[in-house]
Amino acid sequence: MWLTRMQFAAGAAAASLLGAFAASSRAAVSSTPQTKENAMPFTLPPLPYPDNALEPYISANTLSFHHGKHHKAYVDNLNKLVDGTPMANASLEEIIQQSAKDPGKSGIFNNAAQVWNHTFYWNSMKKGGGGAPTGDIAKRIDADLGGYDKFKEDFKQAGTTQFGSGWAWLVLDGGKLKILKTGNADLPMVHGQKALLTMDVWEHAYYLDYQNRRPDYEGAFIDHLINWEFAEKNLAA
Ligand code: MN
Repeated sequence: MWLTRMQFAAGAAAASLLGAFAASSRAAVSSTPQTKENAMPFTLPPLPYPDNALEPYISANTLSFHHGKHHKAYVDNLNKLVDGTPMANASLEEIIQQSAKDPGKSGIFNNAAQVWNHTFYWNSMKKGGGGAPTGDIAKRIDADLGGYDKFKEDFKQAGTTQFGSGWAWLVLDGGKLKILKTGNADLPMVHGQKALLTMDVWEHAYYLDYQNRRPDYEGAFIDHLINWEFAEKNLAA
């Protein structure tokens, strides 16, 4: 479930209450009279861990700016852009799919997709993550991607060769695992692919900790942060 902004502001301890990832959820509808605050349909989900949980690989400073400023700005912009339009009552996924097909709605697409991408990214990492996976996802990596060492090489390559801002992804496409990269806010769902895992390679994801050394951030993400249980859950869903 999403927590409302007021609950979110009440304390980071609430982060531990966040259960399954559910990007399309809306804030709970209140029975109290509508105010400007509770009329806002999308809310910033809390991080699924404390903001220092990924240190030393991603600092609390980076995570708090990335989540509290960047991700929040996408949520706020989306709410402003859809307010009073037919999209105001649509789910996040519906807004992404509809706006992706309409060049006149690129602002809505960019902000909606970035809201979805960031929530997916937080869940793609965990404290003590990374390294070789086990279970179905490991078998699929062996069968479809040439094994874990090749996955490491190709996933890092996807992030490194994304010119400018974007994302590296592990996806399910036509029943097979694939590694791909997307620019800016672009994301697998609008290409008929199912996202399993993502790595943000926008500079704001790593610059405070790694400056221009994107490959060092990518190496830390792969070796120490990947939440393989999340990927496995997405594969099974
Ligand atoms: Mn980002």
